[in-house]
Amino acid sequence: MASAQVKASPHFFDVTPTTGWPAGPVAVTYCGDTTYEQAAANAQEVEMTMPTPAFGAHRSIAGGFEHAFTAGVGVGCDCLQIFVKNQRQWRAPQLCDRHVAAYKAGARQTGLTPVLAHASYLLNLASPDTATRRKSVHAMVDELERCEALGVSALIFHPGAHLGSGIKSGIKRVARSLDQVHERCPGYRTLILLETTAGQGTAVGHRFEQLAAIIDHVSASGRLGVCLDTCHLFAAGYDFRKPEDYAAMVDELGSVIGLSNVKCIHLNDSKRLLGSRVDRHEHIGKGKIGKRGFVHFVNDKRFAHVPMIIETPKGKDGRGTDLDKVNLKRLRALIR
Ligand SMILES: [Zn+2]
Ligand SMILES: [Zn+2]
Repeated sequence: MASAQVKASPHFFDVTPTTGWPAGPVAVTYCGDTTYEQAAANAQEVEMTMPTPAFGAHRSIAGGFEHAFTAGVGVGCDCLQIFVKNQRQWRAPQLCDRHVAAYKAGARQTGLTPVLAHASYLLNLASPDTATRRKSVHAMVDELERCEALGVSALIFHPGAHLGSGIKSGIKRVARSLDQVHERCPGYRTLILLETTAGQGTAVGHRFEQLAAIIDHVSASGRLGVCLDTCHLFAAGYDFRKPEDYAAMVDELGSVIGLSNVKCIHLNDSKRLLGSRVDRHEHIGKGKIGKRGFVHFVNDKRFAHVPMIIETPKGKDGRGTDLDKVNLKRLRALIR
């Protein structure tokens, strides 16, 4: 029943990056009398105008959705990530027309697109405790309803912690929970993205195989995608600082999960070492990954249509410049 109600989520991929470029490979079509030279020149032009990814930041919705949009534009975002409710509380006041109107006005006036949401950190869809899991499913449904009402493209969540019950049963519980969420949200357009985790404690989702297994077990798997997080990948033991290591990691990602399932990338440096299994974000280029690790992601044409969001520490530098602005500028400077 659930799968019959599944609809593709066209708006996520219909989102035209700010460059106005369509997602995916570019087909150069030319008619019969076009010379090879002209075609090659056209192709080169296409090559030169290849898009850069849409960059964005996670911004606070304190004071209303409109503030997140305004702040996002202020620091140089193309796209945006928000919470759709207070992430530290299970319950939140219902969305009303006023909130939806404020969101839509913010989106329209700033042009930030796509907008993604991060789910509350309280959720644990992998929990062996039935009451916690039920509560988490309920809260996830609530978040997805908010996303759908606002027109948020995707809801990103951490798969959860198995709390000692074992990775395999954790994976199955996440999948079953997602089936329940999907059944309660038939036909929704907002995708759910599973984020790669650092593997801290008993966290599920720190190996590509684990995310692939969750997706495999979900009936409406077409409503899912994956969000990479560079800090988490690194802490989980994926090294991508050298070009050859990056290439090998992306190959593995492609064969295990499929690159087309990557719908968002969180770009964060890591305070902790490779394989530390500890999740501590650092400013771009200032952590153990370093700028060279980010060069590969921002210049990889396979990810040129994937929104790239920073979740680096907040604040201002010595000159009073918002640190998100500093980090976004640093990322854009890595584009070749
Ligand atoms: Zn993240
Ligand atoms: Zn993190």
